[in-house]
Amino acid sequence: MNIKNIMVIGAGQMGSGIAQVCAQAGFNVYLNDLKEELVQKGIGVIKKNLTRSVEKGRMTEEDKTATVDRLTASTNIHDAKHVDLVIEAAVENMDIKTKIFAQLDEITPEHTILASNTSSLPITEIAAATKRPKQVIGMHFMNPVPVMKLVEIIRGLATTDEVYQVIEDMTKSLNKVPVEVEDFPGFVSNRILMPMINEAIYTLYEGVAGKEAIDEVMKLGMNHPMGPLTLADFIGLDTCLYIMETLHEGFGDDKYRPCPLLRKYVKAGWLGRKTGRGFYSYE
Ligand code: NAD
Repeated sequence: MNIKNIMVIGAGQMGSGIAQVCAQAGFNVYLNDLKEELVQKGIGVIKKNLTRSVEKGRMTEEDKTATVDRLTASTNIHDAKHVDLVIEAAVENMDIKTKIFAQLDEITPEHTILASNTSSLPITEIAAATKRPKQVIGMHFMNPVPVMKLVEIIRGLATTDEVYQVIEDMTKSLNKVPVEVEDFPGFVSNRILMPMINEAIYTLYEGVAGKEAIDEVMKLGMNHPMGPLTLADFIGLDTCLYIMETLHEGFGDDKYRPCPLLRKYVKAGWLGRKTGRGFYSYE
């Protein structure tokens, strides 16, 4: 199957990054969100990234213009009737995702593949909201998308080998490295990463050390490029909480219980960088 036209749903930090790398690779991309200002914010981030690439000599002005020209702003999910692939990157919530997939199943042509960038939710359950579970797959990009090489490719129970192959090839065409993963909560990346972040939050909650000290230990002691609390702010604390809840529910094991301090921050609207305040302040 030949993929030419793509819709990315959700123009937040992940969706805008995914739209950028797809447009840069030559695909025509509809970037969809609920409101025009949200789509324009996403397109603004892409333009800023591309301008930086031109300034650093990594891209020509012509390539930048051509990339921007391949992007179409969308607030109407029915634009999905024109695409061969949808990559959904809306919020990490099963109800929202299953509603989107059920709608896409009605709107998109028969051949269209439906992918989710979910960080942790079962692909098989998302696929069950459609009548085409064979064509539903996980494409888990890493943040920031234009920089990070890895894409976890998650097979749902019914995903066919043919669909897997199309998505693996398409991922390589984005200059990314696909890694095949089975459909279990958190896949590989967040099953390992998120309990570490949650434990760092417990360490803060129990007063073992201050936030800077915790981050410094993990940076200098373990050679991590950023500390776990800085990383949590970067990912978004709401996303971190959703993922811990998915692991907790999916495995039924209390070792995955989310730290009460994480819940408190999310309830306060302190979601990290994207709201200007999380464990650190970004105002
Ligand atoms: P975000 O909050 O930055 O963006 C989500 C966007 O989705 C918002 O703009 C919101 O308006 C939009 N949205 C919500 N419902 C919608 C709908 N019905 N139709 C269209 N748009 C809708 O979140 P994010 O960090 O970009 O995360 C998006 C997805 O990517 C989540 O599933 C998350 O788990 C996953 N993910 C996040 C990271 C990360 O580091 N943040 C990494 C990998 C994967």
